[in-house]
Amino acid sequence: MATGQAAPGSDWFVGGGEMGALIRAHDWSRSPLGPVGSWPQSLRTAVGMLLPSRAQVCLFYGPDLAVIYNDAYRPVFGGKHPAALGRPGREAWSEIWEHQLGPLLEGVLRTGEAFWATDLLFCLQRHGYLEETYFDISYDPVRDDTGRVAGAYCIVTETTARVIGERRLRALSDLGQIGRHAQAVPGMLERAAVVLDGNREDVPFALLYEWDARAGVATLRASAGIAAGHAAAPASVVPGPQAAWPIGPDLAPEGVVIEAFETGLPGGPWPEHCARVAVLPIAMRPQPPDAFLVAGLSPRRAIDDAYRDFLRLVASGIGGALATAKTLEAERRRAAALADLDRQKTAFFSNVSHEFRTPLTLLLGPLRDELGRGDLADAHRSALEVSYRNGLRLLKLVNALLDFSRMEAGRLRARYEPTDLARLTRELASSFESACATAGLGLRIDCALPGAAFVDRDMWEKIVLNLLSNAFKYTFEGGIDVRLREQGGRAVLGVRDTGAGIPAGSMPRLFERFHRVEGTRARTHEGSGIGLALVQELVRLHGGEVRVESRVGEGSLFEVSMPLGRAHLPAEQVAEASDERGAGQAPMFVQEAMGWLRGSAHEGLPDVADATGERGRERILVAEDNADMREYIERLLGSYWEVLTVVDGQAALQALLTARFDLLLTDVRMPRMDGFALLRAVRGDEAQRDLPVLMLSARAGEEARIEGREAGADDYLVKPFSARELVAQVKAQLAMARSRRAAARERELLLASERAARMDAQRQWEDLVRLFEQAPNPMVILRGPEHVVELANPAACRVWGRTLEQVAHKPLFEALPEIQGQGLEEMLASVLLTGEPLHGRRVPVGLDRGRGIETVVFDFLYSPLRGASGRIEAVAVMAFEVSSSVAGKLAEAR
Ligand code: ADP
Repeated sequence: MATGQAAPGSDWFVGGGEMGALIRAHDWSRSPLGPVGSWPQSLRTAVGMLLPSRAQVCLFYGPDLAVIYNDAYRPVFGGKHPAALGRPGREAWSEIWEHQLGPLLEGVLRTGEAFWATDLLFCLQRHGYLEETYFDISYDPVRDDTGRVAGAYCIVTETTARVIGERRLRALSDLGQIGRHAQAVPGMLERAAVVLDGNREDVPFALLYEWDARAGVATLRASAGIAAGHAAAPASVVPGPQAAWPIGPDLAPEGVVIEAFETGLPGGPWPEHCARVAVLPIAMRPQPPDAFLVAGLSPRRAIDDAYRDFLRLVASGIGGALATAKTLEAERRRAAALADLDRQKTAFFSNVSHEFRTPLTLLLGPLRDELGRGDLADAHRSALEVSYRNGLRLLKLVNALLDFSRMEAGRLRARYEPTDLARLTRELASSFESACATAGLGLRIDCALPGAAFVDRDMWEKIVLNLLSNAFKYTFEGGIDVRLREQGGRAVLGVRDTGAGIPAGSMPRLFERFHRVEGTRARTHEGSGIGLALVQELVRLHGGEVRVESRVGEGSLFEVSMPLGRAHLPAEQVAEASDERGAGQAPMFVQEAMGWLRGSAHEGLPDVADATGERGRERILVAEDNADMREYIERLLGSYWEVLTVVDGQAALQALLTARFDLLLTDVRMPRMDGFALLRAVRGDEAQRDLPVLMLSARAGEEARIEGREAGADDYLVKPFSARELVAQVKAQLAMARSRRAAARERELLLASERAARMDAQRQWEDLVRLFEQAPNPMVILRGPEHVVELANPAACRVWGRTLEQVAHKPLFEALPEIQGQGLEEMLASVLLTGEPLHGRRVPVGLDRGRGIETVVFDFLYSPLRGASGRIEAVAVMAFEVSSSVAGKLAEAR
């Protein structure tokens, strides 16, 4: 009987679409089933049932399990349709018969029991290649009229898209997590390889190369699914025609797929070799690539849009992690550089005082000799005098500091010798005569003592000179009285002045080291706050004490009192009188005092016309009211940088307006505008805000440093400082300013890459939307606690029986009121709350699609979606319809 003609009895089957027609036209008489008229009733019923069904149904029946299927099942056969109809099962499904389908059906026939399974892997040859596919299956026995099991009624649902989609989503979300762990680039790539290793079905093997743009070479950092040393996994790749992979900056952003590989590339879980490989750049645009991904492609999947999108998302997922790694690395490098700078500074400060003394002494000797010559030109002499004066001052301070550290270490040993104390004191005091005369101060010296006193001469000099120079420093009118007398077996030295006086509140801490009284009118703001502390310690070494009386505005009296005789002194330190006379420290003190008398604030504004300067050389502005200090700094810094000096804050501001400077070095105390006011003006000016400012102050101690820093100074240098210290500080500040500028540029770059990352995020979102649109199953994104429908793909709208307009941007339960109270609210809320994905299996949902409530059974996958802040902002829902109404009815009938 010719095909196409109605067979006898074919009128039993009506409708059934294409398959109905084919079955009616088929010449069954030649098959073991025989003509339709001879079919047992059960066979005819089964065929009658499967034909109109919308579920995918295939019937295997008769001695050779001939195949009869419906329209919905056609895609399962793919290219084998329609030839498969009526063929023995063994032939129609030859690729899976032997090991899978044959034994399954045989089991159903033998036992008469139904078999069902979900997401079962079948590798079907339906499109010219062995393809990875998944099915939910339900095989029911069909009995013939004698009651014997003669076939199987198989309802299947293809779940390939869901199984593979979920697997890929998992890999992508795992890749999204790796950026959270702070790691350098190679570490990130290793983590990425571990994630990819978890999905060998899609990526049978992977190679991750880090790209070094400067060297133009890619280095293998991590791999998965391929043996180390494999010919296809070279340790490094240099771009070129001979290169193993087309890696390089020219690779297109979307990458390439290379086909037809002869070599044995590992196929992952698949027995075949990998014949196609994708090579993709990993880059955060607009930068050049950081890395490359070489990914083997599944021999059992077609390279479709979904596969391509997946690979692109993998590359951009790794790219995101790398961007994080690079940001962290840059931060770490910057922090390390700054820490290093700090270490250098600290080490340097601690060496300063010791380093100072020897060169100073070496310097002062020849200077003194030079000054003793009668034939010096005036200009030359005054220059030498400045050096000498300041050298002495520094030496004095350094000595004091060293005395202290010796004292603290218990190494300062006094040598007490019988001394004509009245004479020594008179000599010391009279060295201040000319200074006082110049300052218009009276100096009365009245010293008398019966017999000799046991003192350490050097120490006594320090005691007298410190008290005297303080009196001179703080006195502008009147005069100074120096008086030495015997009182009750003690020698009592009084140094009285008619100067500024000391506020009562400052008295208790006056003898503390580094303590200075604020706001006292003085000839100089220079001072270290260690003079009185030293005096006190030295007096104590003599078994004596020092006290003070003072009244603000009236003057002060410092009184030293110590026992006469030698009974109170350690015998081994008492010596015979010697003729030995030390260098004498008086000149140091006197020269310093004379320096305070030289006016310095009268000098006019600098000539800023010459302030334009040589190009390329860094320029430093120095504001300092002390003339010696100014000259000294200028000389010191002048050999490294271009220096302009001014006498006060106002002159400095003016200079800053007219020329560009790279650093401002300013004293704190200055007439007209002091250092803090200058600093405020600089920081308040947009154009100068970033100018490094180094403050110079005579105030020692951490508080002063903190105060300076808080006011916005970049650093704070305490006088006295060494040349090296100053130069090193200036160098450090200039270097930091340069690195700040570099950091600012780097920040710019980082911001640009962040912007690019955001654009990438936008692109990923668009990709996701596209993925959604194309998905065969319903997919929805519900935002916030209201579950507003942010996105619903066409499949979702179809299953809801609504148009997009009816649901978009509406709370889900408002758009679909009929689904309220069916347990979905709880599931969604739990995902939002816990951030844990949820898998709903076989969930019946009553939907109103215009024909009254219909129950549809779904598998659901609820995934949390996090916003930029990491908070869960939405839930992505994927649904898979697992029952059509017919299959449902069938299930009910059973
Ligand atoms: P400095 O190096 O600051 O002079 P000192 O230890 O010698 O350090 O003095 C500590 C503080 O005591 C000074 O800052 C000053 O305020 C105050 N002082 C010392 N001597 C006098 C004085 N003769 N008249 C007024 N104040 C004084």
